[in-house]
Amino acid sequence: MTDCLFCKIVKNEIPAQKVMENEHFLAFNDINPQAPVHILVIPKRHRDSLAGFDGHEDLKMIGELFQGITRIAREKGLDTRGFRVVANTGNEGGQTVGHLHFHLLGGRYMNWPPG
Ligand code: 5GP
Ligand code: ZN
Repeated sequence: MTDCLFCKIVKNEIPAQKVMENEHFLAFNDINPQAPVHILVIPKRHRDSLAGFDGHEDLKMIGELFQGITRIAREKGLDTRGFRVVANTGNEGGQTVGHLHFHLLGGRYMNWPPG
């Protein structure tokens, strides 16, 4: 997807503060952080959202993403403190960037509803 913002970050066409990456996923700081730790974890291969999730390849991809999330959480010391993972999905889910991403939020007590 040439016009996708997060694909451009993957291709280094737009700068981002990268936190961790491997062949499957990229993690970078959110540009508008809602918590002391606010990291976006995305698959390098474009997916629109969780709504299209299907099949073995996607199952593997979600596993890779969550392995990344938990590794980052440990690295940031959030595994003992606690943290929140959110995937806003679609219009009513509040998704504003159409490339699947998980928000990893931590470093403060989380309120509900968020914001
Ligand atoms: P969504 O609203 O789709 O769940 O989350 C999109 C997130 O992407 C928002 O938290 C927003 O701050 C973040 N974001 C939007 N544009 C950029 C950008 O260019 N760079 C970074 N690092 N984050 C972005
Ligand atoms: Zn994309």
